[in-house]
Amino acid sequence: MKNIIFIAVHGTGKGTQCDLLTEKYKFNHLSTGELIRKAIKKQDDFAKDLEKTINSGKLVSDEVVLDLINDYIATNQSGEGIIFDGFPRTLNQALALDKLLANKKQKIDNVFYLEIAKEEALKRTMGRLICSNCQKSYNKFYDNLKPKQAGICDVCGGKLEQRSDDTEEAFNKLFDTFLEETLPILDYYEDKNILTKIDASMNQEDIFKKVEEKLKEV
Ligand SMILES: [Zn+2]
Repeated sequence: MKNIIFIAVHGTGKGTQCDLLTEKYKFNHLSTGELIRKAIKKQDDFAKDLEKTINSGKLVSDEVVLDLINDYIATNQSGEGIIFDGFPRTLNQALALDKLLANKKQKIDNVFYLEIAKEEALKRTMGRLICSNCQKSYNKFYDNLKPKQAGICDVCGGKLEQRSDDTEEAFNKLFDTFLEETLPILDYYEDKNILTKIDASMNQEDIFKKVEEKLKEV
């Protein structure tokens, strides 16, 4: 069993890497966003509180997220291990996660940081187009990701749209906050000798090869 963390800003293809690993190696993919959405669907008192927090624009507290993770680990003991996606985001969360895992006689084995220059991440975000019908994503700034016909989905002929929150201002804020919060975590994992930095400007196949090579090391 191996537990892995992926750290990356929006627009680096982190989701693709998680999918590739889950498919090929039977990892359990723990996305905290997904956990929260599932918890809300349960409609119990806990779900109602959670929904209230989110609707008021507040962040879900670390305690709540850790509780959800704790439950998730208890019910997902099969497979290769867990990929943590979207958590931890702060040093406090990283410390709390280590403690939680230690209680279960587990630990984090590998941390992958998909590194990308700000200009490159901005270009990816601003070029992103989503099919309004089938949700397939494209990017108008990259030849291999462009639709065959501008503005039209290759698969279903639907209209391609830019997401309304993909603005340069929103991007800048997100990116700066990400770096500010994430750099201390990277130092923390580097000190433990479990951090691997990967150049996220490579294509998804090459990134995946790097991840696999690292996982095969004993
Ligand atoms: Zn489509």
